[in-house]
Amino acid sequence: MKLLVTGGAGYVGSVCAARLLENGHDVTVVDDLSTGHADAVPPGSTFVQADIAEAAGDLLADGYDGVLHFAAKSLVGESMQDPHKYWQGNVLTSLRLLEAVREHGTPRLVFSSTAATYGEPDTVPIPETAPARPTNTYGATKLAIDHAISSYATAHGLGAVSLRYFNVAGAHGAFGERHTVETHLIPIVLQVALGQREQVQMYGDDWPTEDGTCVRDYIHVTDLADAHLLALDNARPGEHRIYNLGNGTGFSVQQVIETCRAVTGHPIPAAVAPRRAGDPATLVAASDRAREELSWKPKLADLSVIVHDAWEFTRARQQG
Ligand code: UDP
Repeated sequence: MKLLVTGGAGYVGSVCAARLLENGHDVTVVDDLSTGHADAVPPGSTFVQADIAEAAGDLLADGYDGVLHFAAKSLVGESMQDPHKYWQGNVLTSLRLLEAVREHGTPRLVFSSTAATYGEPDTVPIPETAPARPTNTYGATKLAIDHAISSYATAHGLGAVSLRYFNVAGAHGAFGERHTVETHLIPIVLQVALGQREQVQMYGDDWPTEDGTCVRDYIHVTDLADAHLLALDNARPGEHRIYNLGNGTGFSVQQVIETCRAVTGHPIPAAVAPRRAGDPATLVAASDRAREELSWKPKLADLSVIVHDAWEFTRARQQG
């Protein structure tokens, strides 16, 4: 298929573009490089550096089989302090993209949604039928885009799939996580192992979980990318499907740090710090729908493998 990947210079977008190329698709990446890196765009794709809202119309006029929409602002804390950046950067940009999709009759859209659309869950693991009550602006903007996509599918026959990611981690060879401002647990812990930080702070040890630290469902970025390929194949005109992507197993912050110690052989000092605003205690996915309807099967679900691949990527980058 001829595919447009927005945000293909970012973490998940670059891995997904690489997997699309490995599977023989024709890939164009559009990214404004506000948070992505030009050298993360996989070789073999066509790269257009542009503002997506401005460029989408001209690009899609060329005739594409589908769009994979990754480009987004994605820092929870920042979204609470600067909501305009998120409503503008996520919702308005996506609306402009949807209008270009409608205008040029692009048949398929796969969208990067998030577990943050659910907020504090009533039941864990979380199914797609759980109420969507985001507790932060980031999640609220992603949910608003999900609603807009549903309207476009109904009104204009778009075949759309939203994938609600839980905690994405790991790396796909040379493609991995390289945030300028790092806030995610595994990359931060690995920075301690590399000697770039003295210790990791565990945000709270008094949560209602077994060891008192927050529990999350970590999913390997390669498994996540593969779900996008299946979503493209399963998009049906006029339908907007929503799937959770996670392994269905929760690991606490302490368990993640212990796994990183085992993988890296580094003692990784850790200290307890105050809770972080907006954090739910436990987020674990029920992904039965993706397994049944997309035949998606995560192959790299072992947390040690996820950490190992992230570690290899991090070390390789440090060694230049
Ligand atoms: N976390 C932590 N210390 C850090 C970064 C994260 O204790 O330096 C915790 C965070 O509170 C959450 C979990 O690790 O419970 C995963 O956080 P991350 O930011 O990686 O992903 P999120 O679940 O927020 O999407």
